[in-house]
Amino acid sequence: MTTGNHLADPAATALSACLSGQVLRPGNDDFALELDGFNLITEHDPQLIAVVDDAADVRHAVAFAADHGFPVAVQATGHGPSTAASGGLLVSTRRLRGVMVHPAARTARVEAGTRWYEVIHAAAEFGLAPLSGSSPLVGVAGYTLGGGLGLMARRYGYAADLVTALEVVTADGQFRRVTADRDAELFWALRGGKGNFGVVTALEFDLVPVGRLFGGGLFFPGESAGEVLHAWRAWTEGVPDEMTSSLALLRLPDVETVPGFLRGRLTAHLRIAYLGPAESGDRLIAPLREAAPLIVDTVGEMPYTRCGEIHNDPCEPIPYNERSMMLRELDDAGADMLLKLAGPGADCIDMVVELRHLGGATGRPPAVPSAVDHRDAAFALSTVSLPDGRPPLVVDAMAPWGTGLRFLNFLASPDTAGLARSGYAPDTWARLRAVKARVDPDNLFRFNHNIPPAPAT
Ligand SMILES: Cc1cc2nc3c(=O)[nH]c(=O)nc-3n(C[C@H](O)[C@H](O)[C@H](O)COP(=O)(O)OP(=O)(O)OC[C@H]3O[C@@H](n4cnc5c(N)ncnc54)[C@H](O)[C@@H]3O)c2cc1C
Repeated sequence: MTTGNHLADPAATALSACLSGQVLRPGNDDFALELDGFNLITEHDPQLIAVVDDAADVRHAVAFAADHGFPVAVQATGHGPSTAASGGLLVSTRRLRGVMVHPAARTARVEAGTRWYEVIHAAAEFGLAPLSGSSPLVGVAGYTLGGGLGLMARRYGYAADLVTALEVVTADGQFRRVTADRDAELFWALRGGKGNFGVVTALEFDLVPVGRLFGGGLFFPGESAGEVLHAWRAWTEGVPDEMTSSLALLRLPDVETVPGFLRGRLTAHLRIAYLGPAESGDRLIAPLREAAPLIVDTVGEMPYTRCGEIHNDPCEPIPYNERSMMLRELDDAGADMLLKLAGPGADCIDMVVELRHLGGATGRPPAVPSAVDHRDAAFALSTVSLPDGRPPLVVDAMAPWGTGLRFLNFLASPDTAGLARSGYAPDTWARLRAVKARVDPDNLFRFNHNIPPAPAT
């Protein structure tokens, strides 16, 4: 079997000669291993993989793809696949690791293959934190370029709101550093438009002064889902921006990797992340603790480095569909509809039905405008289901409460590939298509939630 530098294919050999990283083609020892990612639902089948070591490798790989007419896919961790790469070149960024924290400026510079836990730990040394999300294993680049809805979202906004610079290789093979002052339109589009405009090689963003938080989970038996949902929904109306919370209705399988108290039953899981002292946190969540008899309560003071314990997302790869819908409001009737679809006794295929409370800073425009819409959403609804052939119903049935838009970070699987347009308001979509026409007129970067270039006028 051949590996990296001894390739029979002339195209692969030519690319291999330019890279300090590796070029893999089907049949190479590491080809399948390199394609492995977290969500196994999308099976990429590229002609070549460029395992890049640095930004120069990315430049060579993209220029090579453009010359040969190969469409380009990008994968870091495989947490958010949509359109499968069918042929073409897959740029694997997983070796592009590195975090540099500038404590005085409260900023971080992060290479594109880095996962959140690496930034969280590097920033924590200085009492700082990034706007990371529920799972520290998720990749910084895909998360942030898709908006990034994190654990402190109501206090600090979307992760994309704090980005100050992006380094990107565009379809012409050029390396560009874009900021609010340097190609402001591309900077606007990249923050929200995700992988449509090039391969990002590094990101710079502000950190926030958070070392500890009051957080964890409150677990209730499924029979109490109605009381818990109604109590939480009413409670969200009066909480300060320092409180970011979510509710998940969990139907987890009866398997060993799932904690005993969650196995094979319906559970309601409230997640709390509060940026304030434990005493006021305890006071704030008292009505939630009293909503119904608790099974498990893990809420308490913790360092931000333990933030992954708030949601306790799975770590092992599985295949699943993820859907989403932004809700404009959730009134009593909406909550009742959700319970009918996913509460006790419902024939619901979703393992997870999650509501994240928005508002606060997510409802305010960022200092530098971006392509992240959803400022009018009150809740983000998302569902996760195993691919069992049945249609997922919950999200679409909640459309009467929806803003009409979906959060693209919470859409995964090839079935969702055609839904990119639903991630944006019509003006944003038209503007994104215009930027795409300028920087990627041949739609080289199309294995994603694709934004097609605007037609030439
Ligand atoms: C367990 C879990 C928890 C999550 N929690 C949250 C959360 O709290 N908040 C939230 O907002 N999202 C969350 N997500 C969604 C996640 O942010 C997206 O799936 C994101 O796309 C993952 O990025 P990745 O690089 O890890 O994944 P990948 O599958 O490797 O990449 C996904 C896509 O991102 C783009 N991309 C990645 N890297 C680059 C790059 N360097 N340049 C250009 N494009 C790139 C590409 O289009 C690629 O197809 C979660 C997902 C999972 C599975």
